[in-house]
Amino acid sequence: MRTRMVKQESMKSFNIIHTKNFEDNPTDRQERIAWWSQEKLKKAKVMVVGAGAIGNETLKNLALLGIGNIFIVDFDIISTSNLSRTVLFRKTDVGKKKAEIAAKRVKEMAFHDDINVEWFHGDLVWDLGTGVFSEMDIVLGCLDNVEARMAINRQCWLAKTPWVDSGMYELGLRVEFYNPPQEPCYECNLTPTQIQNSNKRYSCDYTKLKAFNEDKMPTTQITSAIVSGIQVQEAVKFICGEKVQTGKQIYFQGKTNDFDIFSKRANASCTAHASYPDVTEIPLDVYCTLKQFLEFVSQQQYAGTNATLDFRGDRTFIKTVSCRTCHKTIELMRPVFRIEADEFICKSCKTEGESFSNTNTNLETEKVVQDTFNIENTDESLLNFTLYQLGVPHMHVLSVLDSNGTYKYFKLIDKTILKSIH
Ligand SMILES: [Zn+2]
Ligand SMILES: [Zn+2]
Repeated sequence: MRTRMVKQESMKSFNIIHTKNFEDNPTDRQERIAWWSQEKLKKAKVMVVGAGAIGNETLKNLALLGIGNIFIVDFDIISTSNLSRTVLFRKTDVGKKKAEIAAKRVKEMAFHDDINVEWFHGDLVWDLGTGVFSEMDIVLGCLDNVEARMAINRQCWLAKTPWVDSGMYELGLRVEFYNPPQEPCYECNLTPTQIQNSNKRYSCDYTKLKAFNEDKMPTTQITSAIVSGIQVQEAVKFICGEKVQTGKQIYFQGKTNDFDIFSKRANASCTAHASYPDVTEIPLDVYCTLKQFLEFVSQQQYAGTNATLDFRGDRTFIKTVSCRTCHKTIELMRPVFRIEADEFICKSCKTEGESFSNTNTNLETEKVVQDTFNIENTDESLLNFTLYQLGVPHMHVLSVLDSNGTYKYFKLIDKTILKSIH
C-alpha cells in the first residue's frame, strides 16, 4: 500500500511541460518546474549587497537564472586573497572595484541582451537612501559584518522590502528570510555584544577610525557556494510567488552535515520596525542645494511656507568642534561619517609632534551641530550646500516639518543611481 502511494505521488510530480524549440531556450529546464515563472524572474529587481565570496556566487546564480534587473553594491576593491572564492574575478582584476567588475561579468554571463545591471561603489550604510530599497523587489545581503546587516534591515523595514541575509564561518552557514512588516526582524535577535561590535568602524564620537580592518572569516569557496545557493533559492521561490518561511534560520554545518531550521523570536522592544506612512516623490536629487530643496517643499501643495528639513537623528552634520587639546575652533562643515577621528585635533596641535591615536577620544571637545534646516534658521553659506554635502544619501526619504508641526515624507528621485532599473 505504502509503495503504491509513493509511486502515485512521484508520478504526479513528473508533470513535464512540453515546449517547442526547447534547446534554443536557455531557461528551458527551469521553466519545466510546475510553479516556475520566468516572466516574474525577468521582471524582478534584485539588489545584491556585497560582491565578495557569497556575492560572487549569488550574482552568478542570478545571471544564470535570468533575473532581469540587478543592482550591485560594494565599497571594496579586489585583492589577491579574494580570487580563490570569487568566480567573477580574474587575476588581472586585482585593484579594481568589486561592484564594477562584478557588474561587467554578470552582463557577459547573462543570456538575455536586455538584462539591466547597475553597480554602486560606496558605503551602503551612509550613501544609499530608503528610496533605493523601495525600488527593489528583494535585497540579498552577502555581507561579513553586523553594521551593514543592521542598515539593510532598517532600510528594508522602512521601505517594506523583503531581504535575505546570509552568513558563514568555516564550513557552517546560515540563511534567514525577512519579510517586513512580519516580525521578527534581523535586529530582534541580536545580542548586546553584537550591537556593540557593529560600531567597530567608529570612535565614541561616531567619526571614522582610520586604521579599521574588518575581521576576516575563515571559510572556503565551497561554503560560499552552498550558502548562496540556499539564499538565491529562497529569493527565487519568493519572486515566483511560492511560500517562503519568514523569520527562520536555515542552518547547515558542513563538517558534520547537520541541517536544521531554527525559529527566531520577535522582540517587543526592538527599535527597527519603523516604516513611513505616506511618501511623496519629488523631482529633486542629492545634488540640488539645500535652498532649492527647502523652496521646493515650501510650496503649498507639499509642506507649505517655511518647511523645515529634520534629520531626526538619522545623521549628524557637524559645523565646528573645539580642538581636543587647545580648544581652538575647527571648522568641519561635514556629516560626522565623513570626518576622521583625528580631525578633532587642530593642525597646529598635530604638528607639535604629539601622536594622537584614533581612540584618544576621552579629551573634551565641544561640537556645534545642526540637524534641522529651514530658510530662516540656516546660514546663507550652508543653504548653498548640496544635500549630498549635508550627508543625505542617494534617493533618500527626507522628513519635513510643515507649518502645522506635522511631519511629511519626501522621496528624492535620483537618475544617477539605478539608471536602467526603474
Ligand atoms: Zn526587530
Ligand atoms: Zn589645537
